[in-house]
Amino acid sequence: MQHKKNNRGKLIVFSAPSGSGKTTLVHRLMKNPRLNLAFSVSATSRPKRDYEEHGRHYYFLTPDEFKKKIAENAFVEWEEVYPDHFYGTLRSEVERLLSEGKNVIFDIDVKGGMNIKKYFPGRTLSVFVQAPSVEELEKRLRSRNTESEDKIRLRLAKAREEMQYAPQFDIIVINRDLDEAERELTRILEDFLSKE
Ligand code: 5GP
Repeated sequence: MQHKKNNRGKLIVFSAPSGSGKTTLVHRLMKNPRLNLAFSVSATSRPKRDYEEHGRHYYFLTPDEFKKKIAENAFVEWEEVYPDHFYGTLRSEVERLLSEGKNVIFDIDVKGGMNIKKYFPGRTLSVFVQAPSVEELEKRLRSRNTESEDKIRLRLAKAREEMQYAPQFDIIVINRDLDEAERELTRILEDFLSKE
């Protein structure tokens, strides 16, 4: 299953409201060599946070650069996730990782997740990571301390909206405890990747 260089790698889409622990879980799963995962770095036009690096967390583009790529049909999917903040999956990124024989993992919003699944039917597993409650989500967002009050409100509103999509995903994982969620996801991914 794993280290075949036949361009038949699989795709695993992780979507979740921010603050659900999704990004931490993705990082943990990527450390597992048995899963042979590579992260699809998205493009975005939102400002870079201090700790972020171009090419590692995102490809940071200006809104104009982003719009040019939309016109060139460079994206598998893209969304204006927040006003003037575009996010998108580059076709070149996914193709590069698949041609390296990797399984590709995505950390993207719910609509993007659905679109990846439509674009690569039959070999995509969609996973929705849910915080135990909206209250818990709010607590996590505040403790992260990276966003202003306005942005936290925006993210919470988006989280409520995104939770409506959960039933459309193949798998829903409730992240009460990171270790437990990691174990559950490892089992699910190993099973999915072992099938033809
Ligand atoms: P953040 O600004 O916190 O990095 O991400 C905000 C939201 O954008 C998250 O829900 C994240 O999953 C989503 N996102 C990141 N990359 C992409 C992408 O390539 N496409 C889509 N549709 N959403 C993305």
